[in-house]
Amino acid sequence: MKRKNNKQNIMKKHIVAKLPKVDLHCHLDGSVPLHTLKKLAIREGIDPDIMNKAVLEDTCKDLKEYLNCFDIIIPVLQTAENLFDATYETIKEISKENVRYLELRFAPLLHLEKGLSVIQVLTSVCQAIEKAMNDYDIKVNLLICAMRQHDNETNFELLKILHQFENKHLVGFDFAGDEAAFNNQKIAPVVRQAKEKGMQITLHSGECGCPHEVVEAIKLGATRIGHGVAIKDNLDALEMCLANNILLEMCPISNIQTQAIKSFEEYPIKYFMKKGILCSINTDNRTVSNTSLTKEYMILNHYINFNYREMKQVNINAISHSFATPTTKKDVYQRIITEFDSVIEAEE
Ligand SMILES: [Zn+2]
Repeated sequence: MKRKNNKQNIMKKHIVAKLPKVDLHCHLDGSVPLHTLKKLAIREGIDPDIMNKAVLEDTCKDLKEYLNCFDIIIPVLQTAENLFDATYETIKEISKENVRYLELRFAPLLHLEKGLSVIQVLTSVCQAIEKAMNDYDIKVNLLICAMRQHDNETNFELLKILHQFENKHLVGFDFAGDEAAFNNQKIAPVVRQAKEKGMQITLHSGECGCPHEVVEAIKLGATRIGHGVAIKDNLDALEMCLANNILLEMCPISNIQTQAIKSFEEYPIKYFMKKGILCSINTDNRTVSNTSLTKEYMILNHYINFNYREMKQVNINAISHSFATPTTKKDVYQRIITEFDSVIEAEE
């Protein structure tokens, strides 16, 4: 890689990989390791090589084209066994780069094609989370995505089932899908009800050039915004985030691939941090975007000179604004402080 300038504070990949990290915006379906997807494809009688198409080589035209990758993955995630294996293997892989707290999200309604009920889908995923947490040094919680393209009646029904499903790992609610076609005004009644039922809310908003969608999301009670990069050109939306102490779940590589942001050099995280906006760095879809948190940080270091201190800050922001219990927050926070401080002292 060619460096932009000589004064760069170079972060080392093996150190970045070793440091404790938090990933709050990680889609289960988009993050199942490729080798696992191939194993599941064989189990389902599907040509495993088709799974290679789930990994993006480069950028795509827009968010819609990006979302097409999921059409390849979703068909192999339709049985309890496959959902369990996919969840377990995903967490195992993520724990290898020392992510200490992970919020996985997925849309249960996309996994009913072979007759599973929402409760069966959730049970399988939660059992895998429990087993993976026993086997690896990582804490995991689950966020439920409703899909923007589903009608509100369908999503009200989903909320009713979620309310019946008591599980300590189910901690939050989100809307995913095509934001341009199905905006926050359309989903507002569902989000309001989720909030009334006591769910913590994060919403994908401002991913495709619509800053007013971020304002709407905050009005609906979201405490975190998935992506949110569109607010860079809109002072009102920026101030709304500041005033409400909103955390942006930023996903650099995904944002470049969907062309939400034109180039890494223009990635607005430092601009946001200077303005006092709370930012975190996340992967979005590890397999579809061919990424990891380590890769995200190394790219930010390369293009915009992101350093260990900034990396520490965004991980503190992330754990503080996570939907974890106070005990988990405190434990992970402590590990971030201790381990980053020793690296910062040695490397600077
Ligand atoms: Zn996302």
